[in-house]
Order: sequence, then structure tokens, then C-alpha cells
Amino acid sequence: MLTSKYAFEFIIFLQLLFVSVILAGGRELMKVGMASIDITPKESIMLVGYAARTEPSSGVVHPIYARAIAFEDQTGQRNVLITADLVGFSRNLSDEISLQVEKEFNIPRACLIFSASHTHTAPLLNCLKLQMYVLTGTQQKTIDEYTQFLKESLLQVIRLAINDLAPANLTFGSGQAEIGINRRAFTSRGVIIGINPDGPVDTQVPVLAISDTNQQLSGVLFGFACHGTTLGGSDYYQVCGDYMGFAREYLELSQKNIVTFFTPGCSADINPYPRGTLHLARLHGLRLAGAVASVLRPEMLTVDGPIRCLLKTVELPFSKIPSTSEFKERLKDENLHVQRHARYFLDLLEKEKAIPKTYSYPIQVWQFGRDLTMVVLGGEVVVDYALRLKRELKNHHVWMIANANDDCGYIGSARTLYEGGYEADNSTIYYFLPSRWDFQVEEIIISTVKEMVASVDSL
Ligand SMILES: [Zn+2]
Repeated sequence: MLTSKYAFEFIIFLQLLFVSVILAGGRELMKVGMASIDITPKESIMLVGYAARTEPSSGVVHPIYARAIAFEDQTGQRNVLITADLVGFSRNLSDEISLQVEKEFNIPRACLIFSASHTHTAPLLNCLKLQMYVLTGTQQKTIDEYTQFLKESLLQVIRLAINDLAPANLTFGSGQAEIGINRRAFTSRGVIIGINPDGPVDTQVPVLAISDTNQQLSGVLFGFACHGTTLGGSDYYQVCGDYMGFAREYLELSQKNIVTFFTPGCSADINPYPRGTLHLARLHGLRLAGAVASVLRPEMLTVDGPIRCLLKTVELPFSKIPSTSEFKERLKDENLHVQRHARYFLDLLEKEKAIPKTYSYPIQVWQFGRDLTMVVLGGEVVVDYALRLKRELKNHHVWMIANANDDCGYIGSARTLYEGGYEADNSTIYYFLPSRWDFQVEEIIISTVKEMVASVDSL
């Protein structure tokens, strides 16, 4: 039994131990927890990313994952960034998981980011995109069951990350990688998907390193702006995380006991170059892993709390919604997807009597202390947004995350909407949007992001 003297000394010892664990360089550390769950489908399932696919998957290249990083800042506020090898998170899916997380952990919606890697070789989920495909046999049942499994996995990975919270050091840096090429090629037939070496790209590779109190690296979050389309087109039928999955895999192979996470940037109009084979997906992954590894150095910037989070929805206007007779005319179009799109809106008109003139678009900002500002946008966002925001918010370390929280279609800039092409026009058919966006969308999004950043700056 401890005498009162020893008990006192023991308490002092524990206090010293505690202080040495939570303080680094005299400051209180944030807590970080990480978790990963394998979400590889167990059976053959339709893959999403190319409307022309007609068959379910025929194999698996490597496992795909849902992962989560939980942060707890010095005020006790918790945030969770969820990443997954999916083409996108529908609004319904991210809202449904958020409601559950709010109930279970009292974490508000603004403090959750759902970031899909945008690999084009991921399972099709039960969402609006289902209408692009003709499902045969038991595929609907397989997709329903997989969607349910995914929801349970997402909740589970969030729980595991929160349970894993422990004091950690966060540091930020950024590198460069040249993997992508602008794909908006100008031809006499207008803008087509091709190769445009003169078009804009974003080569930045933002990296957030997580290390434990012994300064051992335990996790790496990194981003890059390039479509997950190395594996070519509609003839590729294997489940794969594309170059982003390989980049994670190589980093985890080179450094034992780390968990890695990927977020895509504004890459709607950027494709990997060259592309078309598994070998190239591995090669691009290796190059990205090398770019990330080159950033992991002692001189990275220390990132601190508190974490300030905002989530807003803004109304993005459509340009001109077709009339009922125009939609009826499209039912005769030779393109099956144009017909399905028209049928969808005619049914909506029958039910709701009107088509909404705007879309409620989610914009999220997370700011870590004064050190790092994550700008999180829904849908497939063209690179102009990232380049402009990084320029106009030059006093911030801006980390752009697109394809997050909602997969509401392509978000063109005023320039790309003016020029036309797939990202401005044809893609609206596959996303079941009633028309192209109005030119105002760029100013609405940019001014809202800047207002939100000013607002977190002032807190
Ligand atoms: Zn895409």
C-alpha cells in the first residue's frame, strides 16, 4: 500500500508524464485518430464512371477502402474527414451518415467532410446515377446490398477513428507532381475530351503529416488534382483505386505502420497523361507517392487548432430549363442517355409540376488555427476554381478538396461554360441536371468561399 508521501510523489509523477505527453514545445497538442475499413465488393458489381459499361465487374486489382481521420482540437471540438475509393458521395448518402454521427457523437454536419477519391473503377451505389445503367439479373439486389454494407462501413470507420483519438503532431507542406494534363482539346468541332498541353493544370501536392508523441509518423493525408481515369474507358471492368490507390499503397509499403488518405482537388478537366493501362496507373501512383514522400521533412509547417468549420449551401442557377415540349422531343433522340434524361424530367414535371431553377450547392471550409485552410466543394470542379482561389487567398495555405459531400455534376467556370464541351454541356445528361449552369456560378462560388474564409479568419 502506498504511504501518503509516496502517493503524493506518484501523483506528481503521473502529472509530469501527462504533461510531457500532451505538450510539445510548450503547447497542448490536438488529438488525432485514424481508421481504415476494406470496402472491396465481395461479388461482381456494376462499376460507376462510364455510362457505356454494360457488364458488372470481372475482378479486383487491389482492395479499396473507406478511411477516416478524427481530429479533436484543444477546445474539445471533434471533426472527422472521411475518404473513400468511390466515384462520389451523393448528398443523400453524406447527409444520412452525418445525421447518425450527430446523434451518436454530437458532431455537427459542418465538422464532417465526405471526400471520394473519384476513382472510375468503384462500385455503383444506389443513387441517381443508377438511372444511367441497364441492370440485368440480380444486379439491383447486389447494388442495394453493397450500398447498405458501405453505409455500415462508413459509420464503423468513423467510430473507430474517434475511438483512436490520441495526442498527435500535425505538420503541413506541399510538393509538385506532373501527372495530369488538361483534357479540354479545341478542335473545329468544338471542345472535345482529348489532350490540351496548353490548358491549365494544378500540380500542387498538399500533404498533412500526422506523427505521434514520439515523433513517429503515423498517418499521411495528401491531395492531388487529376481525374481517377488512368484505366481508360468503358472496357475496364476491375475494381481499383487507380493511381491514387497505388500512391497510398506505395507510401504504406515504404513506411511501416502508417495509414494514408487521399483527397482529390479541382480536377474535372484534368486527366492522367498518358493513360489507358494498369501499368500507367501504377506508374502515376509511384510518381505521386514520390512527390508526397519528398514533402515529409522536418521543416514542414506546424499545424495547430482550433479547427473552425463552416458549411453553407448556395443556390446555383441553371441557364435555361427546357420546356415540356423540348423534353418530349428529346424522347425521340437516338442517344439512349438523352432519352432517359428527358424521361426523368418529364416524370418530375408530372409529379412536382415544376423543375427547380437552382441547385442547393454545398461549400465547406475548415481552418486549422491560422495555418491551413481546407476549401471543400461538391461535384466535379474545373481547375480554374483552385487556381483562382489559391491566387485570391494568397495569405492562406489553401487545400482544395472537390468531389466532396455531393456528386451533383460538373461545376464549370465562366470560361469553360463560355467555351462549351463535355464539362459544360454533355455531362448534364449523365448527372440528371435540367440544363447547363448559368455563367454566374463561378462568381457565386468564389465570393461565398472568400466570405466564409473571412468569417473563419475573424473567429
Ligand atoms: Zn469524373
